[in-house]
Amino acid sequence: MGALVDGFGRVHTDLRVSLTDKCNLRCTYCMPAEGLDWLPSDNLLTDDEVVRVVGIAVRDLGITDVRLTGGEPLLRRGLVDIVRRLAEIEPRPRLALTTNGIGLARVARDLAAAGLDRINVSLDTMHRATFVALTRRDRLDDVLAGIEAARDAGLGPVKVNSVLMRGVNEGEALDLLDYCLAHGVQLRFIEQMPLDPQHGWDRELMVTADEIIEMLSARHTLTPLGERGSAPAELYRIDDGPAVVGVIASVTKPFCAACDRVRLTADGQVRNCLFATEESDLRAPLRAGAGDAAIAAQIQAAIQRKRAGHGIDDPSFLQPERPMSAIGG
Ligand code: SF4
Repeated sequence: MGALVDGFGRVHTDLRVSLTDKCNLRCTYCMPAEGLDWLPSDNLLTDDEVVRVVGIAVRDLGITDVRLTGGEPLLRRGLVDIVRRLAEIEPRPRLALTTNGIGLARVARDLAAAGLDRINVSLDTMHRATFVALTRRDRLDDVLAGIEAARDAGLGPVKVNSVLMRGVNEGEALDLLDYCLAHGVQLRFIEQMPLDPQHGWDRELMVTADEIIEMLSARHTLTPLGERGSAPAELYRIDDGPAVVGVIASVTKPFCAACDRVRLTADGQVRNCLFATEESDLRAPLRAGAGDAAIAAQIQAAIQRKRAGHGIDDPSFLQPERPMSAIGG
């Protein structure tokens, strides 16, 4: 079939696979306290279907990197076995996972042994009260234990993803950096994006990349590392040392022109962009006995329809109906 190239010449090599829309936290910018109506379990791709689609994407469409996401992927029964089977795909894809860290301390070693290469853990505060206010759960210690277990299991470099919000945790940038520097993990700040189910995103409350750099520069010398390719994070060397910090300016400095990402939802929909307002259903053809070539062709066609970028600044911008928790990071 050949590489996944869209109408703008972008080559897609990074497949993000959501394994569930369920989560055990209730982050205020992602989910209401009562949770959401979960995807019907019959609609969720089985382990075999997930492994088959990823296999087709790697063998026939040039995907080299696979990131497992959610909701919370650690809630997916059989996760370790899914990782093991994905690691057996030839050519072997690089395997990463994004998690909220709850329960990670228990499975980090098994995930590493199964073939997981890298891990990102979401953490927006070092303070227990703020953690409870933000996530509606008192689980900060579990997350910290998960980060350290992942580091000790060799899932490195362990990356910590943080979202800062005005009036909530905007003053935490340096505390989060201190923790990450002290524990040998890499911190990346992500500008908050309009993907919440309540459609309540307010640009005024988003802490921008420039503001984050300014906050960190109050105590550290930051040197931009420059060329980042398709990687979303702008990296900065800290105090001329080996440690770096990343900033993902999705809204104020979009990196869509170099995008190499395509997504598969837990219920088998291909999304050619995080902000796509249309999807391509793979589940029906998969369950109707479609061959690998037909599945690959459908993914190709979805990429052909990809827009230039997220268009958040366009007056015509429409937030996707599907919430972030059912799309995955
Ligand atoms: S918003 Fe869409 S096009 Fe832009 S970087 Fe993200 S996935 Fe790619």
